[in-house]
Amino acid sequence: MVDWIADYYKNIEAYPVKSQVEPGHIFNALPEHAPDEPENFKTVFQDFQQLILPGITHWQSPSFFAYFNANTSFPSIVGEMLTAALGTQCMIWETSPAAAELEEKMALWLQQMLHLPAHWHGVIQDGASTASLCAILTARERHSDFTINRQGCKGMHTHRWYASEQAHASIEKALKIAGVGSDNLVKIPVDDDYAMLPDMLEMAIAHDLAAGLAPVGVVAAIGTTGTLAIDPLQEIAKITQKYALWLHVDAALAGNAAILPECRHWFAGLQHADSFVFNPHKWLFTNFDLSMYYVRDRDSLIRTFSILPEYLKTERDAQVNNYRDWGIQLGRRFRALKLWFVIRHYGVRGLQAKLRQHIALASRFARQLTQHEAFELLAPVHANLVCFRYAPAGKTAEQLNDLNKRLLKAINKSGQAYISATTLRGVYTLRASIGQTHVEQRHIDDLLALLLKCCASIA
Ligand SMILES: *Cc1c(COP(=O)(O)O)cnc(C)c1O
Repeated sequence: MVDWIADYYKNIEAYPVKSQVEPGHIFNALPEHAPDEPENFKTVFQDFQQLILPGITHWQSPSFFAYFNANTSFPSIVGEMLTAALGTQCMIWETSPAAAELEEKMALWLQQMLHLPAHWHGVIQDGASTASLCAILTARERHSDFTINRQGCKGMHTHRWYASEQAHASIEKALKIAGVGSDNLVKIPVDDDYAMLPDMLEMAIAHDLAAGLAPVGVVAAIGTTGTLAIDPLQEIAKITQKYALWLHVDAALAGNAAILPECRHWFAGLQHADSFVFNPHKWLFTNFDLSMYYVRDRDSLIRTFSILPEYLKTERDAQVNNYRDWGIQLGRRFRALKLWFVIRHYGVRGLQAKLRQHIALASRFARQLTQHEAFELLAPVHANLVCFRYAPAGKTAEQLNDLNKRLLKAINKSGQAYISATTLRGVYTLRASIGQTHVEQRHIDDLLALLLKCCASIA
């Protein structure tokens, strides 16, 4: 299996980056019933190669530029292998002390690497969506003096949350789950660079207060999913302090860039936040899933989530972290191991070098695009994301949207690269995220050549 994995990585550029199968293809190729008798593993593995691989999109191809990357690395893969082999269930300290203590140490290492406030407490979650839900639930409890956990939401003031129009959909989802209601997410307009307008935030809060509603929290994004826009944290923090609101910072991708001194100005004001999330599984070579969640007020987090049935009580509860009480999951995977391997394998300097390389590739790609008259950039290039479109002269807005939709399809159908799209103010926008572990200049050159070729073919 290890040999197969090594060969896979050696040959990864030969696979079509985006799986080209039609819906139902894989499902229909699989037997209708489970086997009654044991099967030979050789046959099973052959089927993996023949039936499953064609339906795989190769996220670790260096020509994967879609969405945000979910990059991994060899130290992470072997860490994940050991996690599977140990098969530990790390719900409490006692069920694997090493898992709890390595997690605590990794949270501290990253806190130092990213220059996060020293008084924060970190915990590993499965994803940013879950971490943001934890933030919203904790804020709800703190605001209601922990009564909603016991009595439900009946008779409570209507909670209101604020985030920019560009906030990730996970915030809306979390508000649905938390019983706040997605109608109570106030979407604050953004400036020309897609960052939240703090004046509009304050107006919205004042408006809600006047209407007798209860403003509870603000979600600021450092690196939105659409364009990696950076909300003005310092100004937002002034407002959350003035109105005593919870400030949650969603930095799912761009948070990783805080390991670079030259990017830390994006995070100015972070010391005023109540909670912060970023995903090493996006841009720190640690395979999915591993999201880091930090809070200022650990006691409120634990009070929101703690349960203490008789069968989970241990003598050591006062001395150790029982992470089952730091979030939603009871059973927890041993995720810290792969992160430990990654950080030690690369060292902080090696990780910084990789991120800098990706940022440099993105800004060079953006420059190359602007040298062609027919391409335009549609958002400032922050970190490793380039938002652009093909815009030959003499076309209407509608024609350009249609042209770029066809361009996206042609690129992804080629199998040579995979990009994705978003819509910005009605403009269909192509996105190239440059963050796969082994991406190099030649892959960017190939992407540009492919773009030009596909533009010619759809014209
Ligand atoms: C990717 C992303 C998320 C969701 O992350 P998951 O770990 O998949 O839940 C949330 N917010 C932002 C800004 C993102 O880019």
